[in-house]
Formats: sequence, C-alpha cells, structure tokens
Amino acid sequence: MIKYHSTNYDTPHVDFKTAVLRGQALDKGLYMLNEIPKLSRDKINNFKSLALHEIGFEVISEFVDDIIPDHDLKIILKDALNFSIPIEKFRKNDSICYLDQGPTASFKDFGARILARIMDYFLKVDDKNIVILTATSGDTGGAVAQAFFGMKKIRVIVLFPENEISELQRKQMTTLGKNITAIGIKGKFDDCQSLVKKAFNDPDLKDVGLSSANSINVGRLIPQTIYYFYGYSRVIEELEEKVIFSVPSGNFGNLMGGLIAYNMGLPVRKFISAVNENDAFPRFLETGVYEKVEPSKKCISNAMNVGHPSNFARIIDLYNGQIDETGVIHKNPNLNQLRENIVSYSITDEITKETIADFYNKYHKIIEPHGAVGWACLEIYRNKYLEDKNYKSICFETADPAKFPNEIMSLINITPNMPKSLMTIQNKKEIQKSVEITSYHDFKLFIQNKI
Ligand SMILES: *Cc1c(COP(=O)(O)O)cnc(C)c1O
Repeated sequence: MIKYHSTNYDTPHVDFKTAVLRGQALDKGLYMLNEIPKLSRDKINNFKSLALHEIGFEVISEFVDDIIPDHDLKIILKDALNFSIPIEKFRKNDSICYLDQGPTASFKDFGARILARIMDYFLKVDDKNIVILTATSGDTGGAVAQAFFGMKKIRVIVLFPENEISELQRKQMTTLGKNITAIGIKGKFDDCQSLVKKAFNDPDLKDVGLSSANSINVGRLIPQTIYYFYGYSRVIEELEEKVIFSVPSGNFGNLMGGLIAYNMGLPVRKFISAVNENDAFPRFLETGVYEKVEPSKKCISNAMNVGHPSNFARIIDLYNGQIDETGVIHKNPNLNQLRENIVSYSITDEITKETIADFYNKYHKIIEPHGAVGWACLEIYRNKYLEDKNYKSICFETADPAKFPNEIMSLINITPNMPKSLMTIQNKKEIQKSVEITSYHDFKLFIQNKI
C-alpha cells in the first residue's frame, strides 16, 4: 500500500484515504507519494483502444489499491468523466487537447469531480461528515461547488472576493444551495485565503472535520494524470514515442499531474511549464533561487495569477529537495534533472493577446488566455529546439473561451459561443444572497452554526 509523506517531513506517513480526507498535512506541508506506482508498457500501449473513463480506471486503481473495490471505482470514474476531451491537430506535430468540456468549462472539473466522488465514497463507508473550506479567485470555487453539490455527508463553504470575479463565476457557486454555501468577501483573494487558513489552524474547529478541495489535496492531483495518458494515446503514431506537453501553470497542480504520469511510465520528451507574468518558476529553473512574486501580477489569464504556487513544494520534493510553505528551501532539489524534464517560459499579456489574435487568423479557431499562454510557450520551444521538431506535442486548453467574452471580443471582434453547461448556469437564479462577513470571528460563528 502506497504511503504519503508531508513535504515538511514533520508528521507521520498516512494512507491515501487519510491524505484525501485531511487535505493538508498537520505540519502545514502537502501530502506527497512515497513512491509512484508504475504502469507496464503493455498497459500504456493498450490505452489507444480504451475510452477515457476506462483509462481513468486503469490509472486511478494504481493509487487506491483495494480501499475502493474495482466495481465501485469504475462507477465513480464513469460518472465523473461523463464528458469528452476533443483533440485537434493544428500543425503536423502540434495538437491542442481541450480540457474544457466539463460542467464548469475548466480543466478543474477533472480533479474536483473525481475527488468529490472519492471523498463521498469514503465518508459513506465510515458514516462521517466533513466541511470543505475553499477560497477561490474564480474557477476553483465553481468547479468544487458543482462537483460536491448534493452530497449528503459533505458541506462546502466557498469564500470569494466579491468584486473580483465575473457574474458567471459567481453564479456557478450561488445558484446551487443545499450543501453549498458561497460567501462573498469585501476584499481580495488573499483575504479569503487567510480566513480559510485561520480556520484550519483554529483548535475550536478541530471537531468540525475541516478539509480542502484545492490542489493542496493530493486527491485533486492524481485524477489529473488521466488526461495526460488519454491525450498521449490519441496523438501518437508509433508505440512508445515520446511527446512534448505544454501546460498552462498557476498553482502547478496541472503540471504535477503530468509529472506523476511521467513517473508512472508515460513517455514524455519534455514538459513546458507555461506561466504568465508570475514568473517565480522559470526564474527558479534558471537561477536555482526561489523568489515569490509578491504581490502577484494581475494578468488576463487570471486563474494563473499565483505568485507563490503551492504545488512548487511537491515538485521540489519529487526532485529530492525540500521547501516549506513560506518558500524557504531547506534542501536543494536535483536541478539538473529538473531542467532535463521541464522548461518554463513567462508570457506577457501583450504576447498572450497577440497569440489569441494570430491563432484565430491562422486557424480560424478561438483560444482563451490560459491556452494561449501554453501555445505561446510551445512556439518558443519549437523555435528554439529545432532538433525536437519530429516529436509530437500536446498543448492544453484549460478553459472555454466563452468565459472571457470581453477579451476575445476586443481582440478578434467575435463573441465566443457559450457552451450548454455555462448557458444553463447563466440562466439560473441566484438563490443565495451574499453573507455579510467582516471578521474571522463572524466566519467562525458561521461555520459553527452551519454544522
Ligand atoms: C486553475 C487554472 C489553471 C492553472 O492550473 P494550476 O493547476 O493551478 O497550475 C490554468 N487555467 C485555468 C483555466 C485554470 O482554471
């Protein structure tokens, strides 16, 4: 049975179930796998003929061992992965893999939907209840709220900065009701985050059973390996050929999914970690020195406006180093190995916009700001590493362009079509007015009253 350690190494190792239900390790580190299971070559070669949810089962069953019986795990994955991943080839060797077909039209649906079902399964078996606290700058809150909606043993409280998210993003959280409560805070994302952190560390709330569904929860990352295997199986022409992945990155949960897949045996030539102007990671790869971007820069690819990515601790851990939650490195990672596997480029808003416009002019297809950062980085890589020109690449589109109507309109003078899933949410009534919360004390009382 695989165990999980904390990236701070100051708390006992736990099993998958404990890591998932707890969210964050008790020493404020992040749970990370002690060892990564390997998939055989034959299994990976066979993925070409399997459906998405079948690949999902093959991958996830490696992690849950026999805590969830195969029959139940298959049901969970079929139910969670009830949407498709279109892949479109734009040049001989360059494809885009669309991860935006889930109910909230962002790639976060993958992790959130599978995590929700796994948590729900564990809680039913144990007959326990938990409260999930999530601070969101926009997309996470919606994906989590929609994924956990209606689950009887889980209450979700989402905090969002009232004036910094779009109407659609707010409606993804406020039109649900039942076990979902969304609280608009008069402040910034950081204020929401700090209320959540205080609650996690509050001894008075110990018995509430607080947990998280952000990408600090390892149960969000493991499902994010699935689309790497799926995308790979759909673009390769020869068995075992290596592929390049360009991954729009903010908190680095998406990239971590890829790195886990790679360590499971997925043939990868290179990961391109595509960031916006929040460039702590590419600077680290270059210099070996980690400096957060403080305060984080506001870019149009807003889900990637992260100055101190939480999953950076896991990347460092994977490469045999150690960094704590404040960003202090206690042990240097194997930088050469890191550089061998990953390159990273920072893309300005100006280039992001240019990329959206150029892409439309060349291919008559709209990409959104996060995917555009990924595509712009792939272009840099293609121009720089000519010797890699025969390797196929996959660039991830992580959201639907309809989530950014104003930016798209101003760049190419077109309003992107809204997918059905978003239209449904857009037309729903908000059944919940924002709750007035002005202090931690209010927030704590609110949590205590809700349970
Ligand atoms: C969250 C998000 C990202 C960044 O993913 P990380 O796992 O935080 O690196 C990129 N694009 C979109 C649309 C997102 O919602």
